Amino acid sequence: MNVFNSSQSWVDEFSDPIRPLGMVPTMGALHQGHMTLIERALKENNTVLVTIFINPTQFNDKTDLERYPQDLDADIKKIEQFRGNIFVYTPAVEDVYGNNITAKSFNLGGLDEPMEGVKRKNHFHGVATVVSYFLEIFQPNRAYFGEKDFQQLRVIEQLSKALALNTKIIGCPIIREPDGLAMSSRNQLLGVEDRKKAPMIFQLLQLLKAQSALLSYRALREIVHDFFKKNDSLKLDYFVICDPKTLQEIDFKQSPGTGRAFIAVYLGKIRLIDNLDMS
Ligand code: AMP
Repeated sequence: MNVFNSSQSWVDEFSDPIRPLGMVPTMGALHQGHMTLIERALKENNTVLVTIFINPTQFNDKTDLERYPQDLDADIKKIEQFRGNIFVYTPAVEDVYGNNITAKSFNLGGLDEPMEGVKRKNHFHGVATVVSYFLEIFQPNRAYFGEKDFQQLRVIEQLSKALALNTKIIGCPIIREPDGLAMSSRNQLLGVEDRKKAPMIFQLLQLLKAQSALLSYRALREIVHDFFKKNDSLKLDYFVICDPKTLQEIDFKQSPGTGRAFIAVYLGKIRLIDNLDMS
């Protein structure tokens, strides 16, 4: 395993890896969700590059950035457990941005606008800034993204098309804790009581899925609003069912047999997102 922290060392030393090269971009605090992406990348490529970088321009909330969990030594140890040809890029902010820490503007085909785009202004342009930088420098043959951040996955697919890059974008299923909570680096920020309640988010999505062939979207929304009235320690940020390709909200009268449900919930100050295919 090679750990490096400047893009120049890639250019100088490693820029001719044994291809295909698979890339797994992360913000660290690695968990089984990330490990599954790395494992898949190792299966499908001769070389894997994991990036660990907390990207400041995708955080619209300064406190969220400041408290984002970080443990580079533990991350490196976890990656070391894999056999294979692995590179780990752990840049400082200046290596990616120089001294201009701002997001660039991209054509994201409107996929950046709903849901997270409404709640986290400019978030996806921040994501696109760093991902396009990685794609252009490393030119991976494949890049792996989790469906946990389903909207992000769609945005990156659009970005890759818009930039006419040769990287195949590969979406991977959501990995969950045994109690159903979608794995996330932010889960470790939950207090004990909130952690106990957090699996209710996935339970709600499953309940909606079970009803989705029978009830209209409007009726499902009522179930959601009743749920949050009864469980007032969880605060709903948004709930929508969208067409998974366009991310446009489906018709209220429609029975959402083919849509995908997206939810964002606050437990105390911690915001969690999840999604589930309704078909
Ligand atoms: P993050 O470090 O949270 O930015 O995530 C890095 C990559 O891992 C993204 O493509 C995420 O979608 C993916 N990821 C995070 N959590 C999960 C999970 N529970 N299951 C699958 N992929 C995940």
